[in-house]
Amino acid sequence: MIEFQAVTKRYPDGTVAVDNLDLTVEDGGITVFVGPSGCGKTTSLRMINRMIDPTAGRILLDGKDVRESQPARLRRGIGYVIQHAGLFPHRTVLDNVATVPVLTGAGRRAARSRATELLDLVGLPAGLAKRYPAQLSGGQQQRVGVARALAADPPVLLMDEPFSAVDPIVRDDLQQQLLRLQSELDKTIVFVTHDIDEAIKLGDRVAVFRVGGVLAQYDSPAALLAKPADEFVSSFIGRDRGYRALGFLAAKGIDLAPVARVPVGTPVSEARAKLTDGWAVVVDESGRPLGWVSEDVLSAMDSSDAVGSDDLISGGTLYRVDAEGGGTAGTLRNALDAALSSPARLGIAVDAAGAVVGGISADTVLGALAAARDSGEVPI
Ligand code: ADP
Ligand code: MG
Repeated sequence: MIEFQAVTKRYPDGTVAVDNLDLTVEDGGITVFVGPSGCGKTTSLRMINRMIDPTAGRILLDGKDVRESQPARLRRGIGYVIQHAGLFPHRTVLDNVATVPVLTGAGRRAARSRATELLDLVGLPAGLAKRYPAQLSGGQQQRVGVARALAADPPVLLMDEPFSAVDPIVRDDLQQQLLRLQSELDKTIVFVTHDIDEAIKLGDRVAVFRVGGVLAQYDSPAALLAKPADEFVSSFIGRDRGYRALGFLAAKGIDLAPVARVPVGTPVSEARAKLTDGWAVVVDESGRPLGWVSEDVLSAMDSSDAVGSDDLISGGTLYRVDAEGGGTAGTLRNALDAALSSPARLGIAVDAAGAVVGGISADTVLGALAAARDSGEVPI
């Protein structure tokens, strides 16, 4: 547990970056500090690991004032990830990560094997381990940064806008990865961002700061959207609260539309007879989706041909929503994105094994949102 008790930080030039902050970060889960630039997020974060000391007040980590711990020892228990990964440019990716176990006393061989495990954990292909940071994409560098922060297996992880400098698709990937890692590792994560969408997506709890380092609201994402504490929070969240709410409503249990499934290799005439509303999902031998075919595509083919993977619409791009036991594991927002971006206007729902179980239409998602509003789950 991390407790800020009446913490103020005034820089030598008189700037009050953090003003009398009282806030408790519970163990486990992701606590997000969000707010516009200059509102004191980084300053607050860095006071936890003593890169900055408060002017007044104190910060307790598991009941103990952090100022009673030596900074070096304190930081061994606190991983730190920043925007541009902060990797050593002249060391390989593997050595960047292995440095940490070496510092904490592991032998070189053990450190490298630990580093290899960690790179795998964060989803970096093994072939990249011998490269230098500059030879990686921004997203890959961030993965290395996360691996390095995890290297000493610290119970606490501080992340300062780690995904802000990568493009939206890569960012989404990194966010999903962080959620998966967190569900496996159960660290106490404090995550800083200026992006309210990211805060809502990742946070179990979200602290909204306003400029001047004042805590405006500290709540679950749902409560934040439902009951903004004041004008500032409300305008920071923006007008599209309903759309944002989709991001934390589970798509579990949503009604699935029937979709035709056509195994790859099916004769064209047989496939045409199976279409639902002119479309079918082509599946592999395990029932996993490969892409869509339409009436138009099939009617242009020779009817004695078989449906091959070259015939799929959008080069086989898939729009899927994970489903489990008939329900879906994704959020309504994933479901809506899937439906809207699918050529057949249906997102593909798959079961835990990845096999197609049905389709999700945008109308169904909006209906589920309306029902959640009616039941008070999203009182917006
Ligand atoms: P955020 O991370 O939310 O953008 P910061 O914590 O970096 O905010 O900064 C909060 C305020 O403190 C800003 O007004 C910033 O200009 C100021 N500030 C940050 N670091 C220093 C410093 N070393 N000296 C003086 N002012 C600073
Ligand atoms: Mg900052």
